[in-house]
Amino acid sequence: AVTRVYDKVALIGLGLIAGSMAHAIRDGGLAGRVTGYARSQATRDTAREIGLCEVCDTAALAVAGADLVVLAVPVGAMAEVMAEIAPHLAPGATITDVGSVKQSVIDAVAPCLPARVHFIPGHPLAGTEHSGPRAGFASLFRNRWWLLTPLPDTDPEALARLDRLITAMGAKTDRMDAPHHDLVLAVTSHAPHLIAYTMVGVADHLRRVSGEEVIQYSAAGFRDFTRIAASDPTMWRDVFLHNKEATLDILGRFTEELFVLQRAIRMGDGQQLHDYFTRTRAIRRGII
Ligand code: NAD
Repeated sequence: AVTRVYDKVALIGLGLIAGSMAHAIRDGGLAGRVTGYARSQATRDTAREIGLCEVCDTAALAVAGADLVVLAVPVGAMAEVMAEIAPHLAPGATITDVGSVKQSVIDAVAPCLPARVHFIPGHPLAGTEHSGPRAGFASLFRNRWWLLTPLPDTDPEALARLDRLITAMGAKTDRMDAPHHDLVLAVTSHAPHLIAYTMVGVADHLRRVSGEEVIQYSAAGFRDFTRIAASDPTMWRDVFLHNKEATLDILGRFTEELFVLQRAIRMGDGQQLHDYFTRTRAIRRGII
């Protein structure tokens, strides 16, 4: 087909992101074959049952002869998966990942990289609070950013080809260096997730408000704000363990701001609250 970008794409990890890629690649005829592997038998069985891709029982089989390999496992599992597949990668293959943190994945993958294999780290800024092989859908990446954090020696042709696949799945690509990516995402994604988790924790600890009341009377605040607290615990544990410095930096600033507002409330300083909300509303209205 004219649109085919790769002959064989191998997806390692068969969750929301890999599943969405499988759908988008197959719908668009973007690869000749799509193979997949996940560590758990139950995940492989489900993926087979729903016909997600050609499911293999070992990672070695999945990546054999693949010209694109996608690591779509939690960030903390990248090193282990890379060590497992490294001896089986085809010369000239491109390997990319979709991890939410970039520098730690580069540190985990680069040392195991065989000669003549191109490594191009990436991160689609697209997701839902759902996980697992049934969660994926073809339009997940449409009009969403997909950040690439190529290394200085990245092969431009391999990069252009991966870019073609990503844009054919409907996403917009941009490039950034890994440490900057990790700081930007700490602000836009990682810290907000942590704060949402704690808000649910607070509601859970209240004795005078029951769990049923929290659910039943979940107003716009709690409902909208905590949707992301239903996300996969393993994935998010790994994000915080692997983006420690940037997350702690942002959380330190967050608690400072919170104390400023807490003090304004205690002192009855309506002017300060009003000024703060006016400024933040203007910023928030700029986000579609
Ligand atoms: P998911 O929980 O839906 O799926 C993860 C998959 O990896 C599962 O199939 C699991 O069986 C498999 N797995 C776990 N450890 C493994 C191992 N050692 N070997 C082989 N398979 C293993 O997760 P997801 O949402 O698809 O996330 C995958 C990656 O994408 C993560 O690195 C995450 O940080 C990143 N990401 C997630 C989102 C999101 O919103 N969910 C968005 C962008 C990027």
